[in-house]
Amino acid sequence: MIYLDHNATTPLAPQVLEAMMPFLTDRFGNAASRHHLLGCDAATAVETSRQQVASVIGADPREITWTSGATESDNLALQGVAHSSAYRKRHIVTVSTEHRAVLDTCEQLESQGFDVTYLGVDAGGLLDLDHLKAAVTNQTLMVSVMHANNETGVLHPIAQIGALCRERGALFHTDATQSYGKEPIDVRIMHIDLLSASAHKIHGPKGVGLLYVRRRNPRVRCEALLHGGGHERGLRSGTLNVPGIVGMGMAATLPTANGIGTLRDRLETGLCTRLDATINGHRSERLPTTTNLSFAGVDGAKLMARMPELAVSSSSACTSALLQPSYVLGAMGFDDARIQGSVRFSLGRFTSEEEIDATVTLVAESVEAMLQR
Ligand SMILES: *Cc1c(COP(=O)(O)O)cnc(C)c1O
Repeated sequence: MIYLDHNATTPLAPQVLEAMMPFLTDRFGNAASRHHLLGCDAATAVETSRQQVASVIGADPREITWTSGATESDNLALQGVAHSSAYRKRHIVTVSTEHRAVLDTCEQLESQGFDVTYLGVDAGGLLDLDHLKAAVTNQTLMVSVMHANNETGVLHPIAQIGALCRERGALFHTDATQSYGKEPIDVRIMHIDLLSASAHKIHGPKGVGLLYVRRRNPRVRCEALLHGGGHERGLRSGTLNVPGIVGMGMAATLPTANGIGTLRDRLETGLCTRLDATINGHRSERLPTTTNLSFAGVDGAKLMARMPELAVSSSSACTSALLQPSYVLGAMGFDDARIQGSVRFSLGRFTSEEEIDATVTLVAESVEAMLQR
């Protein structure tokens, strides 16, 4: 099996499993039970992880709230700020290519009387900063723009967006699930007020993520979604997933993987040389781990079905349950044929050159066979 679907999820890194193991066995304490040693041990481990994940983005550990993953983080960021009594404004600005966790939450807020502006993107998947400037008024509560897109890897200029929001007095949330631990992020320099990330996209375990919420300049007010015990400074009640949190902390300290961009380029060049393929997404403003390609005259799902030994994605893995053509590629203005013919290849830190070469051969032969029939 060749696994090139890392934007959907990643395998655990061996160091991560090793770090988690004691907390799944002997060190099973509840981090809230600080009246005995086992509980204190768990609480200490959680705080070490909090420092580890905070330092990746230049945050204070006290600005990190543990969640069950980025879906919850996005919900908490948007609903929590929208429902805070500290704010009166009811306008939110986002982008049509956001993850469903943001878009569905925005729709929910619309049904509760919030006004949401969905900005479009160009053929490269990038938002126009002038459009953003025009959309953000003094009535705008929050702007939510993802850092890297999960389907195309396209990177939004979050530093510029953060500066613009700061200037206009709007809060800035970014879903950084695909870029956290891969691309440099500094929440201070980039004026980020809230940020979502998830462990299982960075070789950590599933079911754990974080929300960064700025504590000063300005202090962001965010209302809890889950009530019951006041864990996480009241922002997220519930017994902490200590093994998962320890795993995310370890995953955050893994050195940045080198050479993935070279492998991705090798894959792209290999496929584009042998086949009639088009790259979907901006060529340079993109994660080095991702390529989304459309093969002319071929259906992406059918192509995938011919290659059971290759794990890739024909649309967003999170939404492919709906069997709809990708709304992300649709927003980029592509016709149905280009969308239907699209396949996303996403690489991880354990991807090898041999796997890339085998993928080029397999995909090229499969596409050629499909076109001959
Ligand atoms: C995977 C992903 C999510 C959802 O994360 P979970 O931890 O699986 O809930 C949200 N946003 C983006 C951009 C993602 O890639």
